[in-house]
Amino acid sequence: MKKVYTNEISLLVSNMKNIIEAQEIEVFIKNEYAQGAVGEVSAFDTWPEVWVVNDTDFNRAMEIVNSSQRSDNTLDWTCKNCAEENDSSFEVCWKCQNENT
Ligand SMILES: [Zn+2]
Repeated sequence: MKKVYTNEISLLVSNMKNIIEAQEIEVFIKNEYAQGAVGEVSAFDTWPEVWVVNDTDFNRAMEIVNSSQRSDNTLDWTCKNCAEENDSSFEVCWKCQNENT
């Protein structure tokens, strides 16, 4: 098992998991429920992480992560309601659920 992606925003992590799973690679999320348990600022090692189950899928999964992040950089959108930056794959703001109009 190998870690392919981590982010402090769990929504981005589950989104990445879905993208990788869509390519028929078996993945799971580690530390999914570690955040916010006691209301403290999360340490880096409690960020949710995406792991591939089979090491042979690692390179393919990393390519998916890298290409996904590249395209996100050019297609990110900014919420008109709260000015938060959103991943291009989101249809609503991750922070306030405002629609991307
Ligand atoms: Zn918003």
